[in-house]
Amino acid sequence: MSVHIHNIIPAMHSRFEGVQSNMEIDNVSIDSRSLQNNAGTLFFALQGQNRDGHQYISSLINKGVVNFVVSHIPADVVDKANFFVVGNTLTALQDFALYYRKLYSFPVVAITGSNGKTIVKEWLNYLLSPDYTIIRSPKSYNSQVGVALSIIGINERHNLGIFEAGISTTSEMEKLEPIIRPDIGILTNIGSAHDEGFAHREEKIAEKLKLFAHVRLLILQKNTEVEALLNPLIKTFTWGNEADVDVLINTKHSGSNTVISATYNKETFEVTIPFTDDASVENAINCLMLLLYFDYNPAIIAARMAGLYPVELRLQVKNGINGCTIIDDSFSSDYQSLKIALDFLEQHKTHQKKTVILSDVFQSGFDADVLYAKVAKLLASHGISQLIGIGEKISRMLADYPNFHGYKTTQEFLSHYKANAFENETILVKGARSFRFDEIVVYLEEKTHETVLEINLNAIIHNLNFYKSRLKPETKIMVMVKAFGYGSGSYEIAKALSHQKVDYLGVAFADEGISLRNAGINTPIIVMNPESSAFAAMAAYNLEPEIYSAKELRAFIAVAQQKNLSNYPIHLKLDTGMHRLGFEGYQLDELIDLLKNNNLVSVASIFSHLSSSDVPEFKEFTLAQIEKFESWSTAIIQALEINPIRHILNTSGIYHYPEAQYNMVRLGIGLYGVGNDETERKSLENVGTLKTIILQIKEISAGESIGYSRRFRTDEPITIATLPIGYADGIPRRWGNETGYVLIKGKKAQITGTISMDMMMVNITGIDCKEGDTAIIFGKDPSVVTIAKALGTIPYEILTGISQRVKRVFYKE
Ligand SMILES: *Cc1c(COP(=O)(O)O)cnc(C)c1O
Repeated sequence: MSVHIHNIIPAMHSRFEGVQSNMEIDNVSIDSRSLQNNAGTLFFALQGQNRDGHQYISSLINKGVVNFVVSHIPADVVDKANFFVVGNTLTALQDFALYYRKLYSFPVVAITGSNGKTIVKEWLNYLLSPDYTIIRSPKSYNSQVGVALSIIGINERHNLGIFEAGISTTSEMEKLEPIIRPDIGILTNIGSAHDEGFAHREEKIAEKLKLFAHVRLLILQKNTEVEALLNPLIKTFTWGNEADVDVLINTKHSGSNTVISATYNKETFEVTIPFTDDASVENAINCLMLLLYFDYNPAIIAARMAGLYPVELRLQVKNGINGCTIIDDSFSSDYQSLKIALDFLEQHKTHQKKTVILSDVFQSGFDADVLYAKVAKLLASHGISQLIGIGEKISRMLADYPNFHGYKTTQEFLSHYKANAFENETILVKGARSFRFDEIVVYLEEKTHETVLEINLNAIIHNLNFYKSRLKPETKIMVMVKAFGYGSGSYEIAKALSHQKVDYLGVAFADEGISLRNAGINTPIIVMNPESSAFAAMAAYNLEPEIYSAKELRAFIAVAQQKNLSNYPIHLKLDTGMHRLGFEGYQLDELIDLLKNNNLVSVASIFSHLSSSDVPEFKEFTLAQIEKFESWSTAIIQALEINPIRHILNTSGIYHYPEAQYNMVRLGIGLYGVGNDETERKSLENVGTLKTIILQIKEISAGESIGYSRRFRTDEPITIATLPIGYADGIPRRWGNETGYVLIKGKKAQITGTISMDMMMVNITGIDCKEGDTAIIFGKDPSVVTIAKALGTIPYEILTGISQRVKRVFYKE
């Protein structure tokens, strides 16, 4: 990219206040953490719920960034850089993309629909890339910001664009349409996703169709409901199994394949794809339609479509051998997605040493020498300490990169590879699908059994934002990550939240806080149950104690004196009715006496804990707790003449008593996707999914028993599957014996007989599954809430009870 700033001033409807007006922009950034922020960067200071890009301007100036799009110029940076002042920085980003899009004229395909957008896009890219140099949206960049960033990736070598657009409410698509300005549209399907953003279904369909306002052709499955809402001037190219379609489609399963028979222009041909599920078949047919429209002959279509593969949309973070962290992106290798993966590496690295294993890079449109020079520059700017290049091209072109090891093929690398070659480093494994880097990941991954607790980091952030949306913008948030983040992994969650404006983290014990500090977490941390033996360590690691008694306070003051601390932040806990820890009303005078004129410690906050914020019938009691808190905390504040943070609400408190939010709240269970209230739960996204695999399948005859003590006998022949997970992994035994179930292929399989220590058996009669298939122990269904209810306990106990031997895998969409 090379755009002169003179051209973009009017394009963004901006007012220029600058120090240097003769400059070219070669890169756009919205992320202050991106390591490509430099002189050619145009930085958009976007304002979100959690972050305001304006905050980072002065540090970016120090890094060499000169050009900023802002809604106001922060006082500390006036006259220090070029500013494009606009009304709204997101609109300006879109205006920039709009301007940039108009510089290019090649065919552009746009995809929208409720499901399948990203898969159709990735598959089309795979099917068409032998013949075109394609620019496509990276990953699932389909939002108001994502589409603009995708378009800005276009360069002069591209000759086909494939972009996806997603919307969640009305009037979003009309902004995306001119930015993409597609020639050909594909509507994948209309499901129920995002229905809550629309008054009714027609409104949602009509909004999606706005993407196709100027297309010359729209590909879709025959659908009278949609066609009724479509501008009659738009030419459609429909498929289906009825007579009035352009392409008549029939499908039949054949083992693990599906044979699609297509009749077009009176000619019938067959295509076999390696999928059987309806969604994949539908996605494949939409791809086939575009190939037909592009005049590919049936033999080529069939040959290419036979190679369709499962699209992995997430960058996965996995535990590796020898203390390494593996970032698995073994499905694509192009310049755009390499940029994203390197930024992801930077955010999720757990070690300073960074290694990249990279295959040949495809589809840039540039000549190899230009491309690899760009790749080398990108890697160097991210401080990659070791590079392993696999492929004919990369092993030659990047041979001069410091600490480079080149291999011609993945097999050659694997045959030279030694298990101890990597240690305590973060390794990004990124390769085009044809290189089969998944085999490398298998080698590098820590070997554990097949049970994993998958944690969706996007869902965590969604849930955080849900609670934030119910609070005043200035209210601070403390996130409780005690008990390994409610069993979900405290370090990874703290890391994922570190860019979300979370003000404090809460842990139960000092050692939990110390591990967070050792892992590089800098957010203030409060230790809720500090033991006086740990005070010195806490001071050394900058951990702030909850102070709940005069005895404890004296002990802490003694340590503060000994360590020469001054104004060390402490947090006073008042017992307003929970009767667990804390000062009661009659103890306040003693507390005040201890703190008066004491500058060894400083009261950073005063708080209390509600015992029954989730129980509607105890509303009166809860209000009385809040009232006590108000009066006691006020007494302390007045006596000491201080202005600390006050907080009393936990998750259910935020939901039911937002009026008592004071200056901070303490979010726990809700962040992990579990609301105590049914309506609250509907707004949350599921975070943890506990999965395992089928180890063995058995046919059991009538009259036989299953499991220990013969507690279950079948009176008819059944099929059972044995799963390698048991009560030692944290599955309550009471969930067995025909009480509970797991989900296999979307169907309920009842747990038969007693749950053993490391195994359980489930009834899979009538479920089409095989050994090695996945079984979901909990997740969306059954949810931990369902399990807890059935067993007369609470979700907290189930979540925190999942054994540490179960591997946690974290991912981001
Ligand atoms: C655990 C805890 C919380 C969080 O409670 P949730 O119900 O999980 O939101 C808040 N405050 C204190 C003192 C806690 O111990």
